Amino acid sequence: MLNNLNPLVSLCKRRGYIFPGSEIYGGLGACWDYGPLGAQFKINVKEHWWKAMTHRQDVVGLDSAILMHTNVWKASGHVDGFSDPLVDCKDCRFRFCLDKEKETKKDPGSCPQCGSKNLTKPRDFNLMFKTHAGSVEEEASLVYLRPETAQGIYVNFLNVQSSMRKKIPFGVAQIGKAFRNEITLGNFIFRCREFEQMEMQYFIHPKQADQHFEYWLQERKKFLTDLGLPEKSLRIHEHDKEELAHYARKAVDLEFLFPMGWKELEGIHHRGDFDLKQHQKLSGKKLSYFDVEKQDTYVPWVIETSIGLDRLILSLLCSAYKEEKVKNEQRIFLALHPQLAPIQVAVLPLSKKDQLNTLANKISTFLRKKWRIEQDETGSIGKRYRRQDEIGTPFCVTIDFDSLEDKKVTVRHRDTMKQERLDIELLERYFTDQYIN
Ligand code: ATP
Repeated sequence: MLNNLNPLVSLCKRRGYIFPGSEIYGGLGACWDYGPLGAQFKINVKEHWWKAMTHRQDVVGLDSAILMHTNVWKASGHVDGFSDPLVDCKDCRFRFCLDKEKETKKDPGSCPQCGSKNLTKPRDFNLMFKTHAGSVEEEASLVYLRPETAQGIYVNFLNVQSSMRKKIPFGVAQIGKAFRNEITLGNFIFRCREFEQMEMQYFIHPKQADQHFEYWLQERKKFLTDLGLPEKSLRIHEHDKEELAHYARKAVDLEFLFPMGWKELEGIHHRGDFDLKQHQKLSGKKLSYFDVEKQDTYVPWVIETSIGLDRLILSLLCSAYKEEKVKNEQRIFLALHPQLAPIQVAVLPLSKKDQLNTLANKISTFLRKKWRIEQDETGSIGKRYRRQDEIGTPFCVTIDFDSLEDKKVTVRHRDTMKQERLDIELLERYFTDQYIN
């Protein structure tokens, strides 16, 4: 179990998962680049979420634009209300955010850097990034980079409902980038300025809010444990009245025990009809639903599930990270779910000799039809195992000179380091069974 993020940050960089953004220029705060393995891992996690959400009758997908009409953010409350109170220390000039300091239980009445009480009054700092559409940088061309994906779903409520002939209850799911000019940084990819969200808005009849809320809370918890997060590292935190966002009637955080403590991983929110009513007001368009059977017209209520992909990636990496002593040497491995691991099988010919390589190529090509394969011929076998352990590859297939004779290979298991000799012909069957179970 990790008690700080440093070993993981270092592994991610060393092994091609996550690099600091713009590193050769000294980096850019809270921006990260996913390397080849991180990019694949991210796609795998997204795919699981997308399947869980949209491969069902009552939820459909959407991919709306990052840039939206400025009135969207007026309607949602982000222009006026999406801000953090900033305080400057007049002595050491450190700038900090009041809310997040409370979160770490430091005394908000003194500077967290030098302890001085000589502070400015809190001033609201809006977290939305601004830019301009078109060639003229004037007020009229101002647009924001979206700070959440949800609003793209609300403004398309009627388009989706009518084009897909959906009856309430139904949901709309979306994965996409969101941007927040966060002030409190640190903790690796926990809080980024550019990140991805996976959100789903479930449109319901007002009378059924409690039942749907409970259903989605349980569904989301199950999704997280199915991906491999241990039950004991997850807990539920219900917001009290003071914590509730302006749009929310009820909100529950699914918290994960990160190395820096319990923190929000996913939010389940009962948003009532706040968003659709606000968009109705500012757009002048009716956003109601007509129930043909009951001859009833109403503005639907919404249950939202919202998770940050990067934060989910961090929780999966934290819980997968393992260190152990093997023959007085430290072994590090990532015990990732076999379906999420960026590489599922490594093919390792013991020597670079032609015959072994030819056989290795054949096995790689064959297995690649079904799984993500990396063939590695370089360095000692010990080093190659170490690399595969650290990137979380569940199985290594080692090909030695006996393989040429007996048509068998050694399969090594990541978590137990158990090795077994298997017929090459049986490999496909074997891995199929492993992944199904
Ligand atoms: P926090 O209090 O941690 O800033 P929030 O309450 O503002 O989060 P929401 O607006 O509810 O978060 O966003 C939904 C989800 O998006 C969060 O549960 C989190 O997983 C993710 N998220 C929000 N902000 C960030 C960020 N800056 N970097 C990465 N993920 C984020």
